[in-house]
Amino acid sequence: MIRRRDFLTDLTRYAALAAGAPAMWHIVRRLPGAGDPFTLGVASGDPSPTGVVLWTRLAPQPLEPLGGLGSTRVEVRWEVAEDERFSRLVHKGTATAIPELSHAVHVEVNGLHPGRWYHYRFLTADGASPVGRTRTAPRPTEDAPLAFAVASCQHYEYGHYTAYEHMANEELDLVLFLGDYIYEQGAIPTRVRMHAGPECVTLEHYRQRYAQYKTDANLQRAHARFPWLTTWDDHEVSNNYAQDIGQFDRGPTPATAARRTAGYQAWWEHAPVRIPRAANWHDLRVYQRMAWGRMADLHLLDCRQYRTDQACGDGNKPVPCGDWSDPARTMLGAEQEQWLIDGLKNGKGRWQLIGNPVMLAAPDIAPKEGTVVYMDAWSGYPAARDRLLRAIADHAPNRTAVVTGDIHANYIWELKTGFDRPERAVVAAEFVGTSITSDGDGSDVSKYYYPNKLAAPDSLKWHSARRGYLSCKADATSLTCDVRSLAFVSRPGAPLTTASRWKLTHGKPGLEAVGA
Ligand code: FE
Ligand code: CA
Repeated sequence: MIRRRDFLTDLTRYAALAAGAPAMWHIVRRLPGAGDPFTLGVASGDPSPTGVVLWTRLAPQPLEPLGGLGSTRVEVRWEVAEDERFSRLVHKGTATAIPELSHAVHVEVNGLHPGRWYHYRFLTADGASPVGRTRTAPRPTEDAPLAFAVASCQHYEYGHYTAYEHMANEELDLVLFLGDYIYEQGAIPTRVRMHAGPECVTLEHYRQRYAQYKTDANLQRAHARFPWLTTWDDHEVSNNYAQDIGQFDRGPTPATAARRTAGYQAWWEHAPVRIPRAANWHDLRVYQRMAWGRMADLHLLDCRQYRTDQACGDGNKPVPCGDWSDPARTMLGAEQEQWLIDGLKNGKGRWQLIGNPVMLAAPDIAPKEGTVVYMDAWSGYPAARDRLLRAIADHAPNRTAVVTGDIHANYIWELKTGFDRPERAVVAAEFVGTSITSDGDGSDVSKYYYPNKLAAPDSLKWHSARRGYLSCKADATSLTCDVRSLAFVSRPGAPLTTASRWKLTHGKPGLEAVGA
């Protein structure tokens, strides 16, 4: 057990071994046994104007404990170049892959030029990794446009990652991942592909689950092609958990806390994110802000770790009930909520983009006695939702877009301050991205809200429950999001279609449908 105050030092030492390793560690150059160490691919993320995080994990036998490497410590070299053939090298170094972090390598590269593309790779004595491509953010004074994709919910068993195959062919600067990178459940043999191992509870289980997901070639392609910004939702730990309380995993108990600790560590080990400024794995801060020049501020949220337990026993419940409307209830926790409001207030970006794991829109015009509310999304936290919408209205009206994961469907909303009453002004838009695979092939109509499209309120512009992702572009005058859609994921090879296209004009209320 690592003491709290030792955690950061140890983790920094582990991850920053580029400068060399403690003398007592025996570090090998060549892996024990045969096999490609780079079966999980490479990734990059969290770009700043002068740096980016590079990631890989050595795992010659990906589904085996510690990737088949046991207690070996392995020296890994990394290189960053201007060209794909590495003839114009700009940076290189070494890191040590260690069993305490499942031989995952996180390199924080600094000293790069703003607004540039780079290529990177890792090398061991046994061979080289695939080549990844990444980029830095523009310099803070620049008005460069931003092209980004939005993805979430990639349940491995439900289908193929065709969405990523297509995404990798787009010209994007960034991928925003909004949660459910893995699903923790055990295998259901009747699905398209099968989970290895039991329901994830221990660190070993979660590591195996990430390894299985990351063996997918299309997922590896999308990681190797663009830097990602990553946050989590519930399934990185357990269904609909709040703090240390799971839906089927009632807590808080030492066991639920240990499960979250395991889930968080495995998440960090497999995500291209910076070395955490945390006291321990159980309390890992993942919410973060990134500026894309003067074009956009991206606020990436954590909607799990600090939230009040769901009201009225979770699920879909008629309101009013329990403490549902209590203003003391929180989705983000007091600190993150203030951080977000301050960010919207002080953000220099032309656009404010909120990467939001669960839906913000209030689907109802006004909840009547008995209206059924989904307690896990922001609609289950109406006071907290209204505080956020108020902050958007006060500080960044009609230049804020919320992009969202979780519900395995696309919903395109105009957002008002609080419930969707006709007399209230539109202040922002929410683009709910659908799942990459979760829930399988899907349909053109979503069952969650307004399956009868004609009965939908004006502020719900469109919905669909097909699989896919969003492809968005922000420039000085507009923010456009294309709904990229697949007819099936149960077999590979679905062609990509643009099912609808939506435009927000800077400073102007409301969404506009654009011919797709
Ligand atoms: Fe999901
Ligand atoms: Ca979820």
